[in-house]
Amino acid sequence: MAIAKGYAAATASAPLTPFTFDRREPNDDDVVIAIKHCGVCHSDLHMVDNGWGQSVYPIVPGHEITGVVTAVGSKVSRFKEGDRVGVGCFVDSCTTCAARDLDREQYMPGLILTYSGFEPGSDLPTYGGYSDHMVVKEGYVLSIPDSLPLDAAAPLLCAGITLYSPLRHWNAGPGKTVAILGLGGLGHMGVKLAHALGAEVTVLSQTLSKQEDGLKMGADHYYATSDPKTFETLAGTFDLLICTVSAALDWGAYLNLLKVDGTMVLVGAPEEPATLNAFALIPGRRTLAGSMIGSIKETQEMLDFCGEHGIVADIETIAIDQINEAYARMQKSDVRYRFVIDMSTL
Ligand code: NAP
Ligand code: ZN
Repeated sequence: MAIAKGYAAATASAPLTPFTFDRREPNDDDVVIAIKHCGVCHSDLHMVDNGWGQSVYPIVPGHEITGVVTAVGSKVSRFKEGDRVGVGCFVDSCTTCAARDLDREQYMPGLILTYSGFEPGSDLPTYGGYSDHMVVKEGYVLSIPDSLPLDAAAPLLCAGITLYSPLRHWNAGPGKTVAILGLGGLGHMGVKLAHALGAEVTVLSQTLSKQEDGLKMGADHYYATSDPKTFETLAGTFDLLICTVSAALDWGAYLNLLKVDGTMVLVGAPEEPATLNAFALIPGRRTLAGSMIGSIKETQEMLDFCGEHGIVADIETIAIDQINEAYARMQKSDVRYRFVIDMSTL
């Protein structure tokens, strides 16, 4: 066991405080990573609060991790000491079924989350990226393109892939109208990626306060959802609408903005259930779908795409002792557009 330093919440809704814990010894197929930066995802807030009922305490959050390799096991072939790497939302998955070949291992049983899971075959909890180092199987480590800085690239490991995957799956590209609902961490990555893929992009935000930023990120249009006229003007407009909102909404109102055969994809994961009138779907043969992060293969493809197009997150760097304040600001949608922890402040 190696001693690691990090920040943890001891119980549901407790503040994050300094925490020392054990990391497992590296195996032959493991990579040891000195963590340099970690993004702060809204899922970290849901998980610290046990909002989805699956949290394991003490909880060390963080699944938008970038760092540098400090050691590799004897069977590791793709990485060496000094490489710039990333780790996203999971660190292991089912290897006995053909999941990896299907390139959708994130949907298979056996997925082991980066934090609040358990190390395979053990009762040692997995602890996330708000820490100084981690030990990860080679197959779950991503390569960060040289052109991307490690701080602003960190949010690509969750926010980036969570938007890239549905944009690709539902064929966002030239000739397609795409709406991104919510301009937070996920949403702002969605705007940049959908624009780079060639789609016509509309932001739907609560107000127009971030309009200038949204247009600079690549949006073609920007509307406030607090204005009832928005729902009249945009009725029947979109091929694809991706909802990144962390709170429960009237999804029916947004389904009505889809064209016939359009799809609304939920990536935002509110803690409360929502009700839905069937007539929000029936008259337009519309689809309501969900999507969760992306496979390892797709995550590497997204990182390479971002490397080629110079896409990173817009970040506000914080010291680790500012994390509780950052959570409070995120709850109020007061973030432009991702907090990233500088782990040298640990
Ligand atoms: P975030 O940075 O806090 O952004 C969420 C945005 O939603 C806010 O910036 C705000 O945008 C809008 N919003 C928040 N509360 C709202 C409300 N009451 N009514 C209307 N709009 C509201 O959060 P995030 O990190 O992007 O994560 C968003 C959600 O995605 C979370 O639920 C998170 O757990 C989930 N998530 C899912 C996956 C997945 O694989 N599916 C992966 C990562 C995260 P405006 O200010 O522009 O209105
Ligand atoms: Zn996340």
